[in-house]
Amino acid sequence: MRERELIKIDRNGTKHFRVWTCPKCGGKGKDSAWSKSGWYCFKCGGTGIFEHIEKEYTPEYLAKQAEKNRRKAEQEIADRKAAYEADPVKSYREVRFGDSGILYVVTEPNTYSIKEDLKADGAKWRPQMSRWTFTERPKKWQTVGIRFEDLYHVNEYGVVALIDKPEYQAVDEMIGKGKGE
Ligand SMILES: [Zn+2]
Repeated sequence: MRERELIKIDRNGTKHFRVWTCPKCGGKGKDSAWSKSGWYCFKCGGTGIFEHIEKEYTPEYLAKQAEKNRRKAEQEIADRKAAYEADPVKSYREVRFGDSGILYVVTEPNTYSIKEDLKADGAKWRPQMSRWTFTERPKKWQTVGIRFEDLYHVNEYGVVALIDKPEYQAVDEMIGKGKGE
């Protein structure tokens, strides 16, 4: 049996081969790795033969593709950064920071006992912070305003990401541990 047959060489110099050796088992047909499911390769049914096409690229073509992909990735990052510059509020919303980019974190002692009142006033529980928060400063409750930029930035990939630590940790440090629990 022939192992492979050259079908064509395309304009990029890529060689297209018809190959009969099963790519899953390498032509063995069975292997101890599949002993639990009956030893036989499911792709070729144990024959070791599975007709398929394989391509062999020239180094020049591979280099060209790599360069193309690199440029595309660079452009995507630039686009994401530009989108953030054009509309930072969208990024606030993505991390549910409201439209002002500021969350007012409730620092009242023992918020558990007043959670129904907070809820009634429009406070939202933010699990990432383990805190009750308002998107507008409430009159009735003691809060500390945390800016989006205190916790997030647009990273090297143009993606909105936490600056250096989880929200709850950063907020604890900003407002002092123990408060609001
Ligand atoms: Zn196989």
